[in-house]
Amino acid sequence: MFQKSFNNHNRHFSGRHRFHFRKKNRQSNNGKSKKFLPESAYSRNSVAPIQNNTTEIKNQFSDFFIDKKLKENIALRGYITPTPIQDQAIQPILEGKDVIGIAETGSGKTAAFLIPLINKILHARQEKALIIVPTRELAVQINDDLKSLSRFLSVYSCLCIGGASINRQITDLRNNPSIVIGTPGRIKDLFNRRFLHLNSFKNIVLDEADRMVDIGFLPEIKLIISYLPKVRQSLFFSATVSSDVEEIINSFVISPVKIFVKSNETPVSISQDVIRVKGTENKISKLKELLRKEEFKKVLIFGRTKYGVDRLSKKLFLQGFSVASLHGNKSQNQRLRVLSQFRDNRVKILIATDIAARGLDIPDVSHVINFDEPATRTDYVHRIGRTGRAQKIGHALTFVG
Ligand code: AMP
Repeated sequence: MFQKSFNNHNRHFSGRHRFHFRKKNRQSNNGKSKKFLPESAYSRNSVAPIQNNTTEIKNQFSDFFIDKKLKENIALRGYITPTPIQDQAIQPILEGKDVIGIAETGSGKTAAFLIPLINKILHARQEKALIIVPTRELAVQINDDLKSLSRFLSVYSCLCIGGASINRQITDLRNNPSIVIGTPGRIKDLFNRRFLHLNSFKNIVLDEADRMVDIGFLPEIKLIISYLPKVRQSLFFSATVSSDVEEIINSFVISPVKIFVKSNETPVSISQDVIRVKGTENKISKLKELLRKEEFKKVLIFGRTKYGVDRLSKKLFLQGFSVASLHGNKSQNQRLRVLSQFRDNRVKILIATDIAARGLDIPDVSHVINFDEPATRTDYVHRIGRTGRAQKIGHALTFVG
């Protein structure tokens, strides 16, 4: 029954479909082209808002039965009206139900699960929540959101992410934090070493499950789920649903409330267009021409490989551009430094690989440029979702050969 309800939604995204799609494109280019999506996928005329206002928001934050101080923190954070996913998810989560939210980054899903979880902990201090995410950056971001939403509420958290000192995390875990946010590999490691007791978490969030599967975390996720307490509240978020993702869902949630937030209902509006240039050198000179334009104020550029990202970054740096790069070979400290430089506008251009940039929430990114084409439609959606966030207009440009 469940499979049926997801099939339609997932028509454009399922792994099998994607494979055929890519194969077809490759064949039509004699196997030489690296183009995975048709050009039309990258353009929406000039400015076409992805957002429309057809979704009726039924709740205001004031309607929810949540702690008064938490409400104040929501207002201080600048959230006035709930986004569609918040509008639909907060109440069922407050009621203790399992929830499946099919929503992309940028939809406001972080607050959709943090607000009711913080509220639950405020009312029962023994409650603990484990939030599992695909990347370190997303974990750091969720922790930052948590800190601002739980200001002065004494809700303590701990990050369990790879690339950072495990000893520090072990010490933090000994302090028995209410919320643990981590990536699957490090969570498994800490569990195996018996510093993280999975059976003590009765509230679990799997965030960006599709990305965790893409990265190859399926075995870790299955293992973690198998050690969770049977009686728990399970919250599941993913932008897309493939058969692997569905397998996780089936072992994770019980009688869930299912919420679909279509991409045209996320709080983003992004103009999308293609730039046709052949050859790397031509691409670089076109890129430089764009970056010199005044409106390209804060630019996130995507490259396919770590090597390519570093090479492009070096080239632009030598030409005097304010640029930094972000990819999986950088240490956690380097990554955090680069992100804060970009966030604070000390660096104007950030060049990143898909995984490194996943889930990044950097305010005011004016342009996303796909220097290399994304491998899949999902990657494309995630990439361009880094601009046009929180009701702002963003621009996405994709180089095609
Ligand atoms: P997320 O999808 O959780 O990464 O959120 C995307 C962006 O939307 C973040 O910058 C949030 O701070 C922002 N945001 C989340 N909820 C709201 C809201 N109700 N009103 C305005 N901005 C929001």
